Amino acid sequence: MLYKYFSDDAIQYFDDSEYFTLKFTKLEDYNDPYEQSLAVDLAKANFNNVDYLIGLYQKEIYKCKGYLATFFSNRPDITPMWAHYGNEQRGFVIAINEKMLVEYLKDRGLEKISDFKIDNVDYRDGIDSEFQKDFEHHNERGKGYWYRAVNEYLLKAFYFFKQDCWKYEEERRLIIKDNHKILFCKDNNMLLRLPKSCIDYIIFGSKTNDIVKEKLQVVFNQPMYEFRISRSNVESYFIDSEIYTYCDISKDLVIRVPNCSECGEPIEDSYMNKGMCFWCYARNMD
Ligand SMILES: [Zn+2]
Repeated sequence: MLYKYFSDDAIQYFDDSEYFTLKFTKLEDYNDPYEQSLAVDLAKANFNNVDYLIGLYQKEIYKCKGYLATFFSNRPDITPMWAHYGNEQRGFVIAINEKMLVEYLKDRGLEKISDFKIDNVDYRDGIDSEFQKDFEHHNERGKGYWYRAVNEYLLKAFYFFKQDCWKYEEERRLIIKDNHKILFCKDNNMLLRLPKSCIDYIIFGSKTNDIVKEKLQVVFNQPMYEFRISRSNVESYFIDSEIYTYCDISKDLVIRVPNCSECGEPIEDSYMNKGMCFWCYARNMD
């Protein structure tokens, strides 16, 4: 599942049609200065025929620049993501079914590996020592090998490496060739139109207001969950409209857990027979 975090005011960009749009941007517009760093130290590389190889490398880099990206997270319960992108839990998260998204892209003619790529972001600080070795090894084997390896690597390095400090985002990224006809331009934004049937469910934050929640229901007409942080153990959980509680919905897996009959919070084993969490039980005792 792909999770996209939105601030509450982003609700204005969704309507009740059968489609919704995702915004694509050039990587240089993103917030990480490490983006598009190639994580190979050419100066230290042990090359034959240096000038020729650097020339080729630069030519390939130029080719790699022609993609636009949109980002998702692999988890819907990352507190700093809710803080940063979800406007301190006032916003919402859309759960997009990756299989359906990819099928849709393929049906619309994105068939070649050079048309689009979806992958996890690889977090690292400093150069990629594995690739640095490969880079030199392929150079010894001959230009053909080197060329293929570099070609494959550059796309990965250019679009799917980020500095280690962003690891908490657990980012998964989709890139599409920027001149592909599936993308269209509106108000200076490059957009991808997707059917809402790609969306499996919606999550809103514990501070999302009722107007936004009602709009989410009308716009998406999908199951909705509320994201909450438990008072007892600071773990996160999700709660649906029937007040059933779920602990991990991130792996396409819904685990329903015993919950408090008053507030919905998951209950500890020792309070199971009381049917309430410690806090509600203590309040009722007053
Ligand atoms: Zn409770």
